[in-house]
Amino acid sequence: MNHEFDAIRKLFQQRVSQQDELTHVANGDDASVHIVPDGLAWVQSTDTSIVGVHCPEDMALAIAGHRAVCSALSDLAAMGAKAHWLWLAVMAKSSEDLEQMSLGMVQACLEYKIELAGGDTTSCPNTNAITVTVAGLLPENSAMTRKAAKEGDEIWLLGDMGLSALGLKLWQDESIENNAFTAKQQQALIAFQQIKPLLEQGVKLRQAGVSCCIDISDGLLQDAGHIAKASQVAMHIDVEKIQALPAFVIIQRLEPALALSLMLQGSEDYALLCTAPTSLHQTLKKMGASLIGSCHAGNRVILLEYGEPITFEQKGFDHFE
Ligand code: ADP
Ligand code: MG
Repeated sequence: MNHEFDAIRKLFQQRVSQQDELTHVANGDDASVHIVPDGLAWVQSTDTSIVGVHCPEDMALAIAGHRAVCSALSDLAAMGAKAHWLWLAVMAKSSEDLEQMSLGMVQACLEYKIELAGGDTTSCPNTNAITVTVAGLLPENSAMTRKAAKEGDEIWLLGDMGLSALGLKLWQDESIENNAFTAKQQQALIAFQQIKPLLEQGVKLRQAGVSCCIDISDGLLQDAGHIAKASQVAMHIDVEKIQALPAFVIIQRLEPALALSLMLQGSEDYALLCTAPTSLHQTLKKMGASLIGSCHAGNRVILLEYGEPITFEQKGFDHFE
C-alpha cells in the first residue's frame, strides 16, 4: 500500500467524483484536459492560504480548508465567470491534518458543484497550507475587470461588509468565554468562518451588462482603490450610505467605536464591489445591490459625508507591511 496515493484517492478523488461535461481527461493523469467551446474564454486564478497567516492557528483545519477554497472561488465571481474546475496543492504537517483540511475542501467543491481536476499533496514539517487554483468560463470579451469603471458610473455593493472582520476580532477576544457569544456575535463569527463566494451573483452582474467589478478581500477602501487606479477614476464613496447598510447596523450595536473602520477596512467579506452606468440602476437595485457612491474625474478613493470630503486613514490588509 502506498500511503500518499491512497490518501489522495480516499480523501480527495473518491469524494469529489463529479466531472464537468467539458473535461476530456479527468483527475488521475499527469494533467487534466478541458475543452473550451467556441465563443467562450478561459478564466483562471490562484490563491494560497496558510494556517496561522490567513486564518488563526486555533481554527479547525476543516474550516481553514473550506475558507481556502471559497476565497479562491470568489475571484471567479468577481470576473463574472461560471466556475468549472479546481486544483488543490496541499501542504500538511501530518496525515491527520491532511484529512481534516480535506474535509472542508471537499465540502466546498460539492457545495459549489466544482470538479476537482487535480492537485498535489505533500508533507511540510512546519506549516499547513493550501494553494487553490480555480478556472471557469465566460463569453469572450465579457469579463468584468478593474479597469472598466467610467466617470458617471454609480458604485454598488453586493453582499455584507464588516461582519467577517468583526468575527475575527471576537475570535481573538480572550475575555469572551467560548459559549458566551450573543446571537449577533455568532452571526459575525459565522461570517468569518463560512466564506460565501458570490458566484451566481457575479454571473448575473456580468449578464446584466456590468463590466467593472472586484471582490473585497482586503477591505472596501483598499479594493475600491484598485478600481480607481486601474480605471483612472475617482471613487466617491458616501459614508452615510455605508452607515445605512444592514451589516453596519449590527456592527454599530456591538462595536460602536470600530463600526466604520470595520466596514471600510475590514477584510475577508468577499462582497462584490462594482460600478455601472445609471442605465443599470434599476437592474442592480432589483438584484439586491446597495448604492454606495459614484465615479468622477480623478484616480483615487474619496470618502464623502453628506457631500463633504472627509479624511480616513486608508488601510487594508498588507502581507509585507
Ligand atoms: P504527478 O507526480 O504526476 O505530479 P501526483 O503523483 O502528484 O502526480 O498526483 C497523482 C494524481 O493525483 C494527479 O492526477 C493529481 O492531479 C492528483 N492529486 C494529487 N493531489 C491531489 C489533491 N490534493 N486533490 C486532488 N487531486 C490530487
Ligand atoms: Mg506526472
